[in-house]
Amino acid sequence: MSEKVAQLSIHEKLSKLAANLWWSWDPEVTELFRLIDRELFDRFNHNPVLLLKEYTPERLEERVREGVLHSRIHWAFRRFREYAEASTTWGSTHAAILGQGPVAYFSAEFGLHESLPIYSGGLGVLAGDHLKSASDLGLPLVAVGLFYHEGYFSQAIDSAGWQKEAYPRLSPASLPLSVVENASGPVLISVETRRGSIHARILKLAVGRIDLYLLDADVPQNSPEDRHLTARLYGGDQRTRIRQELLLGVGGVKALKALGILPNVIHMNEGHSAFAPLEVIRQRMQDDGLPFDRALRDTAAQCVFTTHTPVPAGHDRFDESLIEEHLGPLGDSLGLGTHGLMGLGRVDPQHHGETFCMTVLALKLCRIANGVSSLHGVVSREMWASLWPWRSVEEIPIGHITNGVHVPTWLAAQMRVLYDRVLPENWYQRTGEPDVWRSFETITPGELWEVHSALKNRLIAYARLEATEQAKRRGEDPSVVAAMEMMFDPRALTIGFARRFAPYKRADLILKDLDFLAKLIASTDRPLQFIFAGKAHPADERGKQILQQIFRLTREEPFRGRVLILENYNIDMGRQLVQGVDVWLNNPRRPLEASGTSGQKVVLNGGLNCSVLDGWWAEAYDGKNGFAIGTGRTHSNQEIQDSRDGEDLYRVLTEEVIPLYFDRDRDDLPQQWISRMKRAIRTLGWRFNADRMVMDYATHAYVPAAGGLSCSIVSMP
Ligand SMILES: *Cc1c(COP(=O)(O)O)cnc(C)c1O
Repeated sequence: MSEKVAQLSIHEKLSKLAANLWWSWDPEVTELFRLIDRELFDRFNHNPVLLLKEYTPERLEERVREGVLHSRIHWAFRRFREYAEASTTWGSTHAAILGQGPVAYFSAEFGLHESLPIYSGGLGVLAGDHLKSASDLGLPLVAVGLFYHEGYFSQAIDSAGWQKEAYPRLSPASLPLSVVENASGPVLISVETRRGSIHARILKLAVGRIDLYLLDADVPQNSPEDRHLTARLYGGDQRTRIRQELLLGVGGVKALKALGILPNVIHMNEGHSAFAPLEVIRQRMQDDGLPFDRALRDTAAQCVFTTHTPVPAGHDRFDESLIEEHLGPLGDSLGLGTHGLMGLGRVDPQHHGETFCMTVLALKLCRIANGVSSLHGVVSREMWASLWPWRSVEEIPIGHITNGVHVPTWLAAQMRVLYDRVLPENWYQRTGEPDVWRSFETITPGELWEVHSALKNRLIAYARLEATEQAKRRGEDPSVVAAMEMMFDPRALTIGFARRFAPYKRADLILKDLDFLAKLIASTDRPLQFIFAGKAHPADERGKQILQQIFRLTREEPFRGRVLILENYNIDMGRQLVQGVDVWLNNPRRPLEASGTSGQKVVLNGGLNCSVLDGWWAEAYDGKNGFAIGTGRTHSNQEIQDSRDGEDLYRVLTEEVIPLYFDRDRDDLPQQWISRMKRAIRTLGWRFNADRMVMDYATHAYVPAAGGLSCSIVSMP
């Protein structure tokens, strides 16, 4: 290490640690920030950049001396440097070709940390976990997204149970973001439309070894309307949507060029960024003098597309006037008229009635396309079969790579201590390998149960505290607030349900038969309790009604004190929930959950999944590593399916989950239950984690797309 580093002050070292999100998945550094000032760290949403702003170097030095933290900070900083500078990594050995030009990973949302709310749900968290694992694996990758200065909304629930949205403004200066500049000031990029250009600056976020570039349209060069363009994630109308997507795709490719980054592979995470390849084609035609057809073929050969949406209505579609206004100038450069342009987004280019679909565009412009679970692969092949009318459905060129979660982000610190003891020494760097997880079988049941119980107690304490604060804010009666301080029973079977309140996820399925549920919950010898959380999209009335229904239930006997709904679900709350529940409930309307990932986080921490056989669970469940609702059948009539699934849910709870949980031995251990916990961790941990997922993308998509292996181009217009 250079002398300069040795001379850095404590304040400088901590500032450097705070400036890279790596700290957030290193438990030791996270703990250091907490030890500096627990109260401020919590108040600032665990944002160490804000925390450090409260300290002068002198006061910080004093604080560090009081806490005897000097050597721990030096050690943390040294580990950070070693991590950042490691030259031999999985990526350098298995994806060496990407050294010539990285993967450019495009996504409309990134869920990386609670202090940066530029995600709405699973898609964003998946993208965040992808970056963290790419960093851990040392895979050459840069990421591109948008900076939403009002983010996704923060949620309050009023005393009538109705969701209220607020949009606190994010300040880049209070986050680990830096404005990308060149000699003459901030780097600006612009995208032309028929009615003028949209400009954006570039913010940079360091995610371990990965750089994430976020485009921000809030610059003086823009009209007042466009300064607001990137204010909110999934806000506004179709026009806002296409302009955001234009900026993300076309603007993103321009930004990389302005930064001198020449990607070897373009990865579109969902269709939002599907305009990106069009700009790459334009640059090829301009810079290399290629004709359109050739530039298109070369570009598509380098593009990877991941679809996440099994509902036809969930795919972005734009009508011709919006396409002409926004893609017209680019279409001119490509030598395409409006008709030619529209054809790229239509299943049948000649069909004038068809709107422009971003997924169709992405499928036509990529070499490799995939869904996010085995079942979702099947659904996607059926859904897009009409793009390849000459092929049978099995031959539709959409494969699958099942989603996974970033282990260091989601694993509780206490559980990690257990892993450290039981798993091979360097398990941490090899989570994608089945062998590493095998020795989990040797853990003693009592020990695993002990750690789980501690985590569960922590969750109950957290839930009480949050519930109390939220009730106070809502202006509830002091007696109600007081009751919340003592709600929940540590002995009760604790079931969690938290995710976006999209109606297809059916947060209300468990409410189908309230009398029956009341009996289950009120049982004195085998009690149950529920924690719900989740945001409904601001325009989703149905989602808000479901939320309200659950809220109302929390005030009625016998549900009061045993059913809770927490407001403002985010990554922090998610972490608390997945680390402490006994059971994670997941009951989407099959097959609408493309993968789902929250249940994977639960597995790592010893909770059991009770889930419809949809998404990842359809390929994960083996009869003994959790519980299945239903048998994987679907009914074309939604009401029939809902009522059948509701009955199945009650059946599995009463016949399997509850008896197993309360079947205790002389030491009060539920031996059969603990066997399932162990089996879940051993059989699922290695498969459904993000290292395995990113390795799969590297091997099956990135390296072939970079030209490292011959592979037929699977989808062409
Ligand atoms: C993991 C996660 C999700 C995804 O949950 P699903 O149940 O897979 O939809 C959504 N939001 C947050 C905050 C998460 O951490």
